Parts: sequence; C-alpha cells; structure tokens
Amino acid sequence: MDPREAALRQAYDHAVRWLASLPDRPVPARAPVEAIVRALGPELPEGPSPPANVVDLLATACEPGLTAFPSGRFYGFVVGGTEPAALSVDWLVSAWDQNCVMRTVSPAYAAVEEIAGAWLLDLLGLPGTSAVGFTTGATMANFTCLAAGRDAVLRDAGRNVARDGLAGGPAVRVLAGRSRHMAVDLALRYLGLGRPELVAADPQGRVEPDALRRALAGAGRGPSPAIVVLQAGDIHSGAFDPFTECVALAREAGAWVHVDGAFGLWAAASPRHAHLTAGCQDADSWATDAHKTLNVPYDCGLAIVRDPSALRAAMGEQGDYLIQHEHGDPIDKVPELSRRGRAFTVWAALRSLGRSGVGELVDRLCRHASAFAAGIAGIDGATVLNDVVFTQVCAEFGNDARTDRVLARLLDDGTAWISGSTWHGRRVMRISVSNWSTSDDDVRRTLDAIRRAAGTA
Ligand SMILES: *Cc1c(COP(=O)(O)O)cnc(C)c1O
Repeated sequence: MDPREAALRQAYDHAVRWLASLPDRPVPARAPVEAIVRALGPELPEGPSPPANVVDLLATACEPGLTAFPSGRFYGFVVGGTEPAALSVDWLVSAWDQNCVMRTVSPAYAAVEEIAGAWLLDLLGLPGTSAVGFTTGATMANFTCLAAGRDAVLRDAGRNVARDGLAGGPAVRVLAGRSRHMAVDLALRYLGLGRPELVAADPQGRVEPDALRRALAGAGRGPSPAIVVLQAGDIHSGAFDPFTECVALAREAGAWVHVDGAFGLWAAASPRHAHLTAGCQDADSWATDAHKTLNVPYDCGLAIVRDPSALRAAMGEQGDYLIQHEHGDPIDKVPELSRRGRAFTVWAALRSLGRSGVGELVDRLCRHASAFAAGIAGIDGATVLNDVVFTQVCAEFGNDARTDRVLARLLDDGTAWISGSTWHGRRVMRISVSNWSTSDDDVRRTLDAIRRAAGTA
C-alpha cells in the first residue's frame, strides 16, 4: 500500500472513533499537558518512522488530552462545531494542497471562492457586489476590514497610506462600543490606530445612540477621519447594536462604519432572527467567522467590504486604488500570500445545509439558548442576567463564590463544558450555544448536570 494511503486509513479510523466517542465521553480533557508529553516522548527521533505509525502514536497519545470541542455539550467561549460535509472536505483540502493565491493557478479554488462568497452575501443580506476575503478568523477579518476603512478615510483626507504610511498623516478617530470584543482592540493595535474611544452602552452591551451622537460631534472624513465599530452579537448577552440609528449617525459624520459580527451576523440568515441585524447591511464592512455559527472546522473568518476597490487598495498586491480588472485575485482580499483553501469548506457547509438549513441551524441554537435560560431560572438561587435574544446566556447563582463553585463542580462532573466570566462586576456562568449537533437531549443532560452542581454548591 502507498504509505500515504496507510497513513490516511489510520487517520480515518482514529477520526471516526473520536467522533463516535463524542456523545458519551466526558467533555473536559482527562489528562494534563505533562502526561501527554510523557506519552508522546519528548525526544526528537534520530531517524524516520512509517507515516501510519506516526499518526497512530499521535492519536493514541493525545486522546486523553483532547477536549470534546465538537461535542453537542461544549458551551464555552463561542466555538462552533464541525458540520459533516465541511469536515470531510477539509481532509480533501489537505490532500489537494492548493496554494489559493491566483485565479489562473487554481481555477477550482477561485471558482469555489466566488460561489461561496456570493452565497454568503445572499444569506447574510449584504450588498451583492461586496468583496469577500477568507481569513483565519474574525480577529483577522476585523483587521482586514479595518485596514480597508483606515486607508479609505485617510485617502479622503488626502493621505495615501499604502505609499506614505501613517507617520505624519492626520489622526484617525476610532469609536467603538464599551462592550466591543477584544479582537477589535487587537486589530486596531496591529493597524497602528491605538485604543478606540469607548462609547457608552446599555446593560446588555448595546451602543447608546445618544452617546455615539455626542462622541461623533466634530468627527468625520476630510479634516477628521473617523471609523465607527459596531457589534452584532455581544459575547455575554448576545445583544446587537441598534444599527439603523448608529449607522445613520456615523454616516452623517462621514465615518466608515464597520460591524464585528463574528457569530451574530448569522442572525440575518434566519427569517425569525434577521430583525436583530436590521440596518447593519448599510455599513461599509463586516467581519464574521465561518468556524463559529456556520460550523466549518478551524479556521475560517470572513472579511466583507462593500467597496471592493477599498479592500483591494488595502490588501491587494498592487496596492493601487484604481485597478480596473473586475475580478481581483483571492490574494487581493486578505493579508496572507500563500494560504489554505478555506472557501472549500465554507462552500461544503452551505451546499450541504442550503438556505433553509442555515436558517434552521441559527433558530435551533437560539431555541436551545432559551431552553437553558428557562431551565436555569427554575434553579433555587439562580438568576439569568441577560435578555436572551440569541445564542448566549449569562447566569449567576446567588453570589460570586457560589457561582464559581457551581462552575467548578460542573467541570468535575464532565457532562458539559461551560465557561465562567465576569460581567458587570459579577462572576457569571456564560453559556454559548454554537454547535450544529447540540440536541434537546444534550440540553436536558446539561441542565441536569447544572442542577446537580448547584444542589451541592
Ligand atoms: C470570537 C470573536 C472574535 C474573534 O474571532 P476569532 O475567530 O477567534 O479570531 C471577535 N469578535 C467576536 C464578537 C467574537 O465572538
């Protein structure tokens, strides 16, 4: 047998065993880092080994140290799972090993990126002529969109950033809601824009339009270039900024409007939840993830920019605002040069789910979140702290110490994985439903585990 085939069969067997273990294995990892290092052996081997043996060693040694992230009972952070068609295509992407830089070199990739991009704009209700770049995640999607915005507002102020850089040019004001995700701050830092000016938000984390109006007074393109960063989906409450009002205010001030919608932008794909994103399609750029709500395997983010030439000016090889060709190369839309074919897995997930499947996925995640809120509200001493409008639930159990005890007991129990956080100065249990495979039974089993943890805490 070709050594590649033997190794792939070995990987297949381990992968299938892993997936089959998900319904019943404890969600947290069972072995610490040191145990995995011991099992693998820290020494660099002096010579070669058969590939199939290497796969087997790694899979066997790592198994106890794996966290069941793709389990229907993992509710930490916002992680998504792996939709079956996307997972399988991800293996093909490795076997194909395309360098997805230029249309003429991998026509198959360029075709799939074009189709997947158009489908995404359709599903997310965004302008059909926008450019879609496939990044590693939403942090880099925010970076990519904000680079386009930074260069555009400075171009309007007479500055060519691609040629002359930032030093000595006009300052760019960046306004963001107090409850923005830290990825926005990271992106701004990488872009040389420093920390954003923070705009007051209501207790759910939604930007207050009056506060934005006051903050914007005096800002705008021309003499005072500005960017306003809004959010679709707060990681604690799931709340969405009031886009219609905020976008109008930012537009009046001549600012570039960017939306971080890492998991929340997908509300637009559900007729039942699209109202949450109303007005957000009038922004200039949007960052989201495919590896969260859409459930493609890591990693894939999406940088969407209304004006394709603004994205090309910031990211394109030629860096020229006036490039005429209608279809830029994939390379013109993201920071990386050599890169993996991320659009293949996105296409597979969308092709497999179809329009109704994506909408139902979003609705199902929201329905499970509501079930969690209802179940937790019935536990003695527990309080749900957020308005559950989307996939996020924040709860406390009477006081910080008890909330932390409930979280610790829940992890020991192993039925589910839920993160703790601090919200409005209180310790909270933060549940994020983002996995396509979470079932009513998973929710029931998890609520039982939370009740057990609360009963003894
Ligand atoms: C997860 C998240 C990010 C960062 O996305 P990555 O894919 O982890 O880089 C940014 N903003 C929000 C609101 C998020 O939930």
